Amino acid sequence: MSNGTPEPLVRFINVRKSYDGKADAVRALNLDVETGEFLTLLGPSGSGKTTTLTMLAGFEQPTEGRIFVGGADVTRVPVEKRGIGMVFQNYALFPNMTVGENIAFPLTVRRTPRAEIAAKVARALSMVRLDGLADRRPQQLSGGQQQRVAVARALVFEPRLVLLDEPLGALDRQLREQMQYELKHLHARLGVTMVYVTHDQIEAMTMSDRVAVFSTGQLRQVAPPRLLYEAPESLFVAQFLGESNTLPGTIARLSGSECSVTLADGTTVIATAVGACAAGTAVNVAVRPEKMVLGAAAAACANKVQATLLEVSFLGDQLRLRLGAFGREDIVVKLANGAGQETLDPGAVLTIGWHAGDCRALAS
Ligand code: ADP
Ligand code: MG
Repeated sequence: MSNGTPEPLVRFINVRKSYDGKADAVRALNLDVETGEFLTLLGPSGSGKTTTLTMLAGFEQPTEGRIFVGGADVTRVPVEKRGIGMVFQNYALFPNMTVGENIAFPLTVRRTPRAEIAAKVARALSMVRLDGLADRRPQQLSGGQQQRVAVARALVFEPRLVLLDEPLGALDRQLREQMQYELKHLHARLGVTMVYVTHDQIEAMTMSDRVAVFSTGQLRQVAPPRLLYEAPESLFVAQFLGESNTLPGTIARLSGSECSVTLADGTTVIATAVGACAAGTAVNVAVRPEKMVLGAAAAACANKVQATLLEVSFLGDQLRLRLGAFGREDIVVKLANGAGQETLDPGAVLTIGWHAGDCRALAS
């Protein structure tokens, strides 16, 4: 490209997909996947993640728009000609083949010489830490081991792109967390581009270079995990990733990137203005529970309010407080577990505060 930016490995241009000619499963999708990156499609069930992935794989055709891989238009290229590795939630291993035969399958169909197959299968097995299990049948393996076989099978022909659709969904929590790190380390070691689908925000944040958030068929924001969490551009993203206190109000005044917002109960808060905001715009002010502070620290903040402590939950690593303020009873504050919190009793009146930079006025 003329500006020196490397061309993305994948490019969706104005992609729309309708299965029934009425509702759009995916619409107006413009998304690039950079070479070597780990990009996750995140969103609730039915938001269009799998549809996006299956169009990239070639199992489904876009109703409108084009898809490019490595600079070439693949919109009408059949699945087997795209050279993409795939891993699904249900493993989809062949039950009547051994582990070794399963992993060899993509090489066999590509008519790879036998000696080369043996070496590549051994390497793939070792990559997913299953050395010595080539002769087992899939049903003789645990769920985690079966999923590793599926990953090895997707990687064995050294594709430039691997797609994974909720691959850890069937595993229990501990194994899932362990496999998240295994996949992330495998990605780092091989440098292969991965596009991953999950509805689990922690999984997405753990593994990804960037996360693309979907809701009802639309890409809402794509950014590195930290930016997505700290600087959501919409109420949907603020609420889907982590927890947010959201206070409806109206913009009273704008000055630079800051604005003052009049809340429903008449109080005013200072917030960071996001997007095209103007005085009179209805917004939701979003504040993360861990950005709210108490007592002396609160006194130093641009935003502070007297609040009544309603409920204290001990969560081990943190305390979760529910408070009444702004005419509401659902203000949540999270404090890291530490000293001096023994005196937090329901009924106490506390000052809670937060900085203008930690609170965003999001047009709804
Ligand atoms: P996700 O993977 O985010 O859960 P999907 O891409 O599977 O979402 O689905 C997006 C929308 O498309 C949903 O409304 C779903 O019901 C619909 N859909 C998905 N696959 C099909 C299909 N094969 N035929 C008809 N509708 C489908
Ligand atoms: Mg899906």
